[in-house]
Amino acid sequence: MNYDLIVIGGGSGGVRAARIAAGYGAKVALIEEYRLGGTCVIRGCVPKKLMVYASRFAVEFQESKGYGWTVDSPSLNWGTLKRNRDREVDRLEKVYRENLEKSGVVIFEGHARMLDANTVFINEQERLSGKTILIATGAQPVTDASIPGHELCIDSNDFFKLDTQPRRVVVQGSGYIALELACVLHHLGSEVRLVYRSDLVLRGFDQELRQQLNDELKHSGMAMHHRQVITKIEKSPNGLQVQLENGASLSADVVLKAIGRKPNTENLGLEQIGIRLNEDGAIAVTEHSQTNLANIYAVGDVTNRVNLTPMAIREGHAFADNTFGGKAITVNHNLVPTAVFTTPELGTVGLTEEQALALYPRLDVYKSSFRPLKATVSGHASRTFFKLLVNRDNDEIVGFHAIGPDTGEMSQLLGVAMQMKVTKAAFDATLAVHPTAAEELVTMRSPSIQHGL
Ligand code: FAD
Ligand code: NDP
Repeated sequence: MNYDLIVIGGGSGGVRAARIAAGYGAKVALIEEYRLGGTCVIRGCVPKKLMVYASRFAVEFQESKGYGWTVDSPSLNWGTLKRNRDREVDRLEKVYRENLEKSGVVIFEGHARMLDANTVFINEQERLSGKTILIATGAQPVTDASIPGHELCIDSNDFFKLDTQPRRVVVQGSGYIALELACVLHHLGSEVRLVYRSDLVLRGFDQELRQQLNDELKHSGMAMHHRQVITKIEKSPNGLQVQLENGASLSADVVLKAIGRKPNTENLGLEQIGIRLNEDGAIAVTEHSQTNLANIYAVGDVTNRVNLTPMAIREGHAFADNTFGGKAITVNHNLVPTAVFTTPELGTVGLTEEQALALYPRLDVYKSSFRPLKATVSGHASRTFFKLLVNRDNDEIVGFHAIGPDTGEMSQLLGVAMQMKVTKAAFDATLAVHPTAAEELVTMRSPSIQHGL
């Protein structure tokens, strides 16, 4: 065998696994077909968050007026924004390469395909053999080929390539990506129309939070076409014409589809070597990320468990610790803190009220909705909303849901507290930091709802 470990995919999960395994003394090869860093660094979290920062200046310019600033006709140079963003992405890609090389990982560029359980073919030319194989190939945007004109749409990968700012954009979907990119474009000044098939955005999140975000987006001036799907897209003399199921016709320069992602399991030779896939096309793995072939493992989005960067990293790290470091770590896929970087932002950890009620019928719900102090002078209409869910039987906080500035940051810290099984009494005993928004979390004295009384 050439290598102890061959990693396919140089994204969040693959890179972490390769570096940790090499740190244990394993001889490691990593194969990447596009750019090191994967989705998160190249065309996901990082460039997305930079675009979010760019877009929020628009809100700040508005708010600053109440504080006495004169901000006359601010304007955006999309080219400068793209250039500076891409420069940072290039820098990070180099850092990923250097860190891998420093760890002793041998990097191969090209498309990997499995020939048998120990052999990987790169670009149909070079063969590598390895005792253990890790598949960390991530996922890609879904397209709906049944819609006439679907090929005229762009996806999140294309979004990051746009050289000019589209003036009119139709965004389809109401998950993380659709909402984050719709907000970015909306605040950067594009005319955005969101088309989504549900009543409320963000299916799967706490119902009340969904309603709040839905309302906030509407109030911010974004056109919301709920319970609608696109039936046809056509070229028109001045751009694109988008037909909706209800007969409406929307004009657009760009149609951005963000209707989910599918695991990258095609053209990997998985069928030939007998790797079992789930119904959704993801690689089926055990709690230790092992496939049905004993020496082949898979982590990250390709397993479609919790499709977030920190989870891919955690799974990759645990795999390397277990396989090369003699440990027996099981990754916890519950209690996942997460943020949706819309404007306003949303942060959450733990169970939704609906899920919590099913498990803990004696549930106290603490809520606080308030105008942030900053807005009292700026005149901004947006409100901040916090919700804490408490299991009355043992006083444990089982859910945190928030919408408003910095709530993503809050969800990170709430995640630590909830990991330690924090109680409401501990929140009550914690001194407030004044004046902050987060102080509301430790000053919620009486429940708004007491289920099961
Ligand atoms: P990836 O990072 O996708 O890496 C897989 C790598 O494998 C890729 O580089 C790919 O080129 C390579 N590859 C695929 N097939 C082959 C092959 N056959 N041979 C060689 N190489 C191959 N998550 C968050 O936690 N926070 C966020 O804010 C966030 N924002 C996001 C925004 C967007 C627009 C998107 C699309 C995703 C976002 N995510 C976010 C999700 C996050 O990016 C993914 O969960 C994470 O990147 C998954 O890591 P991974 O290692 O499984 O796969
Ligand atoms: P999501 O699963 O979050 O959302 C998919 C959206 O597409 C939903 O609104 C869904 O509607 C809609 N949809 C699905 N199929 C169709 C269809 N055929 N026609 C119309 N609408 C459809 O996927 P995303 O692509 O937004 O994001 C993928 C994952 O990436 C996320 O789940 C998350 O794990 C990760 N991510 C994380 C981010 C973060 O941490 N901030 C940011 C971006 C991505 P419905 O609700 O009705 O099912």
